[in-house]
Amino acid sequence: MLFIAGAYKSHMTTWGILSPESLTYILFTNCLLCLLSLHQWLWKVVWAVLCLSSGLADYFLTNYGVEIDRDTLTVFFQATPKDVGAFNITAILFHLIPSLLLAATGWFVIKPSRDFSPMRSRGLLVLALLMGAVGATGYFAWPIVGKSTPYNVVAATYGYYQYTRELDQAIKSRKNIGDDAGVFTENATQPLSIVLVIGESARADHFSLNGYKRDTNPLLAKVNNLVSFTHATSCGVMTHTSVPCLLTRATATNWIPAETETSVISVFNALHFDTAWFGSQGDFSLSVPVSYISSEAQKKVILYAADGGRSPYDGQLLPYLDQALGTTTNHFVVLHTNGSHIQYAARYPKEFERFPANCKEHNLSLAQRMFIITNSEVKSNQKFRYKTTDMFDDCASSIDTLINSYDNSIVYTDWMLNQVISRLQHTNAIMLYTSDHGESLGENGKFLHGHPEEVNNWQVPMIVWASDTYIQNNPQRWAALQSYRHKPVSHDHIFHSLLDCAGIDSKLTDPSLSLCR
Ligand SMILES: [Zn+2]
Repeated sequence: MLFIAGAYKSHMTTWGILSPESLTYILFTNCLLCLLSLHQWLWKVVWAVLCLSSGLADYFLTNYGVEIDRDTLTVFFQATPKDVGAFNITAILFHLIPSLLLAATGWFVIKPSRDFSPMRSRGLLVLALLMGAVGATGYFAWPIVGKSTPYNVVAATYGYYQYTRELDQAIKSRKNIGDDAGVFTENATQPLSIVLVIGESARADHFSLNGYKRDTNPLLAKVNNLVSFTHATSCGVMTHTSVPCLLTRATATNWIPAETETSVISVFNALHFDTAWFGSQGDFSLSVPVSYISSEAQKKVILYAADGGRSPYDGQLLPYLDQALGTTTNHFVVLHTNGSHIQYAARYPKEFERFPANCKEHNLSLAQRMFIITNSEVKSNQKFRYKTTDMFDDCASSIDTLINSYDNSIVYTDWMLNQVISRLQHTNAIMLYTSDHGESLGENGKFLHGHPEEVNNWQVPMIVWASDTYIQNNPQRWAALQSYRHKPVSHDHIFHSLLDCAGIDSKLTDPSLSLCR
C-alpha cells in the first residue's frame, strides 16, 4: 500500500520515490490511511471518492495542463450539463479506469481489520499523529506536496466551499452605494446614454488601432470622436475577478469592494437612469459576483447557447440594445460580450473570416473555459494538434491558424463596436469598451488566460467614443479623455470615469481615477 499510494501521483516518477518530497507525500498518505482504517465505511467511502476525484484531476492535468485549485473548481461548478457533455467522455473514462481499479482494490481486496478494539484504535491514532507530524514538517519544507493529487482536490474543494460561503455572506451584507449616489448635474436637453461594452480575452496589441500590423479594425479606424488608449491594463487575468472589479470601486490592488459593495449600476439606478445588462456569455453561478452585479440592472437578458450548442454571437445583443435605447430617459447599458473567448472561430460568422482559419463552428465546452494548456508539442515544434479534439478541433492545426481565428474575432469585435456606435451616433451618448483581460497565444508555450506572469494577459484594449452632442456639451471632459490616449490607464479608472464623465457629482468618485479630469 505504501508503494501504491506513493507511486500513484505522477510527480513521484520524476522526483524519485525516495526524495524528501516523496517521503513527505507517503507519510501524509499513510497518516490518512491509518485514520480511514478506524472505520470500515469511512475507509470505503473516502477511499472511493479520493480515487475517482484523483482520476478526474489527472484527466485535466494531462489533457489541459490544468492544476486543480479553487479557481478551476469555480469554473467547473459553473458548468452546464451541455458543457459537461462537450468533454471527451472516452478520454475521461480512460483516466478513470486506473482510479476504478484502485478503488475496487480498496473495497474488495484490502480488507481492513474488523478489530475495532480501543487498543487498536489508539494505536492507529498514535501512528497517524506521528506520521502526520513528520509529514507536516515536510509539507512546510516542500509545499508542493500540498498541490499533489489527491491533496490538491481536497484543498481545492475546501477552498471553493470557503470561498462561496464567505462570498454569500459578503453579498448579503453588501453596502448599497446607490444611497450615496450624489447628483446628476448635466442639463442637456437630450437624454444621456452610456454604453459599457465588456469584451472577452481581447489583447491590446491585436488591435490595429494600437499599431497591430494586421488591419483588425477596418471600421473603427474610420470613426470620428474615438480614442483608443494604448497603455491600458486589466484588473485581473480571469473573467470572474476582472468584471466585478471594473464595475465596482475595487482596484487591482484592492478587490474587497467587489464583494462588499454594489456596483456602478446601483448608482445609475439611484439617479433614475434606465439600466440594463445584456450578456452573451451565459449566466454565472450565484457564487460569482458577476451574477449579483448584473442582477442590479433593471433589465437583464442573458443569451444562452442555442439548441445546436453554439454560443450566441455578440451581434445578437444588438436588438436588445435597440429596445433599451428606445425610451426617452437616460440610459446605462452594459453589454457583456463573448468577444475573443476560446474557441475563437466560434465567435464570428463565416463572413468575418478575414484571415484564413479553415475552422468549423464549435461548441463552447467547459474544457475551453478551464483555460490552460502547456502542451510540450507546442513548445517543441510550434505545430500542434491536441490529443483530444475538445480544445480546437480542426480550427488550429498550427499557431498561425489559431492566431488567424483569434484576429478574425477581433475583426468581429470591430464590427460589433461600430454597430453600437452607429446606434448612438445622433444622440447624446458615450461608449466605453474594454476587455476583461488579455490572452496568451503561444508565447512561452502558454495559451488562453489566467497567467498573471504573462504581460499579454494584462494588456487590454480600452476605447472611448463620444457623440458630437456629448462633445459639444462636455468639451472639457472630452479634452481630458483625449489627453490619456498614450498614458497608462487601467480598469481602476472605469467606475470613476463612468460617473464623472456622465456628469454625476458624487462623493463615491475619486477624481484622481477619472479619465474626464
Ligand atoms: Zn474573461
